Amino acid sequence: MDHCPSCTRRVYVIEKIEANGRVYHKNCFKCKEDGCRLTLANFHFHDNELFCPKHVPKLQAIVVPMKGQPEHMGRL
Ligand SMILES: [Zn+2]
Ligand SMILES: [Zn+2]
Repeated sequence: MDHCPSCTRRVYVIEKIEANGRVYHKNCFKCKEDGCRLTLANFHFHDNELFCPKHVPKLQAIVVPMKGQPEHMGRL
């Protein structure tokens, strides 16, 4: 019997999703970041964790400057 890597409980055939050679519960097959619903068509696997396309960590760390930070202290 397979165990879900997400919740470590048994996975029965009726509720299983197979991805990356692992077996998950349908309910556990979700984005680690925000719990977004995943499908076999759109999931990403990163560091043994599941992510949706929106929250998957980028391979290259890109530093994005925060928007809305004023570079000056306004007008005098
Ligand atoms: Zn599970
Ligand atoms: Zn997500």
